Amino acid sequence: MNREQLRRTAFFFDFDGTLSAIGPDPEKVGPVPDAPEALRELAAHCGYCAVVSARPVAFLARQVGASSEAGASGEGPELHGLYGLEFSPDGGATVHTLPEAAPYREVMGVAVEEAKRALPGALIEDKGLSCAVHYRNSPDLAEAAEEWVEQYAREHGLKVQRGRMVVELKPPVQRDKGAVVRDALTRLPELAGAWFFGDDLGDRPGFEALSERAERAPQFTAVRVAVANTEGDPLGDLADLMLEGPQEVPGLVRRLLRAS
Ligand SMILES: [Mg+2]
Repeated sequence: MNREQLRRTAFFFDFDGTLSAIGPDPEKVGPVPDAPEALRELAAHCGYCAVVSARPVAFLARQVGASSEAGASGEGPELHGLYGLEFSPDGGATVHTLPEAAPYREVMGVAVEEAKRALPGALIEDKGLSCAVHYRNSPDLAEAAEEWVEQYAREHGLKVQRGRMVVELKPPVQRDKGAVVRDALTRLPELAGAWFFGDDLGDRPGFEALSERAERAPQFTAVRVAVANTEGDPLGDLADLMLEGPQEVPGLVRRLLRAS
């Protein structure tokens, strides 16, 4: 890829399992070495660069944004949190919430408390606009967690999102990583290609949005990069490229930068 092609290419990155290794405590994970620095450099040279994650923007800002060690001035990747319900164009300095999701903060606060009471062995993550029930530390809770979340969602008109060892309550707003990708590609018609790096079920809509675009515009280069993990392979069937783990992502980004 030459410099001009890089300037016309977009890059989307999931965070957990893609830029960071998965850990037992979701609050204690951090990016693999060189990931924040490589992304900042990529963002300075490519057409568009974003981190699109299930995490809140405030968390992403600490990891790869303006309030991270590598961060400064608001340059670097755009941050899309909670599957696109939150967004920051400046590394987390300003955070925009999707207007239709904003009224659900209170509802989710209640859901977090109820989940803690109902599932004492699970790790309940309060994400502001969503409530994640993690059962990585107690896999025998999987069924109870799924059932509780399903029922709570039905009773309160919320949506359910599944990931690896996690099930989540979300506002009933139609927004996923695919919508984030489609919005960016629509805003930037000059783009000639896009890459999406992901590892989990929530990344499938992102992969699919790239495929749709490539089908409509055969000149458009779509590269779907699946980052492997030991807990299953939810993206392998859609991937153009497989990496063995998050630690390989910064190296690939550096190679792209060097080659251009
Ligand atoms: Mg992930």
